[in-house]
Amino acid sequence: WKASLRSLRCHNRRMALLELTGVGRRFGADRPPAVDGLTFSLGAGRILALLGPSGCGKTTTLRLIAGFEAPDEGQIAIGSRVVARARDAGVPPEERSVGVVFQDYALFPHLTVEANVAFGVSRLPRAERRARVLRMLELVGLHELAGRYPHELSGGQQQRVAVARALAPEPALLLLDEPFSNLDADLRAQMRDEVQKILRATGTTAVFVTHDQEEAFTIADEVGVLNLGRLEQLGSPEAIYHQPATPFVAEFVGAADFLPGLVTLQGIVTEIGVFENAERRETGEKVRVMIRPDDVTFLPDEAGEAVLLHRYFRGSENLYCLALPSGHRVHSSQPSSAAFATGLRVRPEANVLHVVTFPAG
Ligand code: ADP
Ligand code: MG
Repeated sequence: WKASLRSLRCHNRRMALLELTGVGRRFGADRPPAVDGLTFSLGAGRILALLGPSGCGKTTTLRLIAGFEAPDEGQIAIGSRVVARARDAGVPPEERSVGVVFQDYALFPHLTVEANVAFGVSRLPRAERRARVLRMLELVGLHELAGRYPHELSGGQQQRVAVARALAPEPALLLLDEPFSNLDADLRAQMRDEVQKILRATGTTAVFVTHDQEEAFTIADEVGVLNLGRLEQLGSPEAIYHQPATPFVAEFVGAADFLPGLVTLQGIVTEIGVFENAERRETGEKVRVMIRPDDVTFLPDEAGEAVLLHRYFRGSENLYCLALPSGHRVHSSQPSSAAFATGLRVRPEANVLHVVTFPAG
């Protein structure tokens, strides 16, 4: 069935390559579940980022899919074959056609780069194995370092070896656990691009987990936001950012303030403006309106009722915190050239392109 999985890799993109149904895992009866009723499917060739804070169940989810952990509830299918279900040993990891890139790379220190990459393809005939390994090393740009040992490589190079090792057996599905978190900012951005290219070039379906929303947005076709083991929202990066389904998602994927609003026939009335009732909430309803810093600007105005409380210099922008007369605060991102003194009286203006509201209270 492995061969048939492989043939799925580049085919029907709309077909689910991975499907989780009500998957749960609890470590101890007295503890809340680490993974709770997880249900989603991922089409062949797609890249999914599972995004969430530390401890939300990201690694456990990957371990369940890989087969290092068995679910207490629900089932997991890879390429239409059920590989795990509650209270069942399931298909062993090495038979799931899944490659894993661990957070710490987990390279074998006593093996050369070439031998590390060859590790998962030892069953191939010698000549074929060598050709496969060289192809993988070329793919990740390491063919000249094949004879080196892991400690002779930089962090980025070690990461590449880990990716090559995971891809060498041509898995149907690649799982990556916070793969870039040990790299510094420049290299992280570069590796992100490279890994994405490799996944696209090989038609590999991938799930990677991260706590970094920018990372999730830049690599993934789909982003799933996890909180306390539950999937709060699954959607395109744009949908997650502009139409967050819950306040948790709104705050986790970007700065967000929430202002009280009242739904009227004219729109949703707030302290900094009236917004379109895009979600067709009922007149009279009290809501909380999500405001992103890029929605808010302001003009210095002695008669203004808002005050600049703080300026956070971010290099490419200035982020201002404005105190409104009610005591509520909103943030406003401005060009880095727009430096105003704190204490300044201002008149805020809001232009909210994507009006998102949540029930008040
Ligand atoms: P993340 O990768 O998102 O940081 P994890 O999946 O590692 O989260 O952990 C989710 C929760 O499950 C945490 O509360 C963690 O302490 C707990 N947990 C994970 N693995 C085990 C384990 N083997 N034994 C007990 N608790 C665990
Ligand atoms: Mg983790």
